[in-house]
Amino acid sequence: MSNDDHDHKHCLEMFEKLSEYIDGELDHATCAEIQKHAEDCVACFSCLETLKRTVALCKNAKETPIPQNLSAKLKEIIANMPKTTSP
Ligand SMILES: [Zn+2]
Repeated sequence: MSNDDHDHKHCLEMFEKLSEYIDGELDHATCAEIQKHAEDCVACFSCLETLKRTVALCKNAKETPIPQNLSAKLKEIIANMPKTTSP
């Protein structure tokens, strides 16, 4: 079994759900799935943190929940991530 070759395609799929996850619109199982993945995946974890921070800022400003270009930014973060994270 080789879990080392992390498939970022799965990460990108998760990004589609992250905004709903932040808003608490996902069912419990999907939330748990995202949390579990983020614990193992540095790229998704940092993206999730970025997203949370962005949402917090937006809520303070009482503006649109999530900027449209955020997913593009998240993909950029992943693209710049090293493929292997564990030694
Ligand atoms: Zn990931």
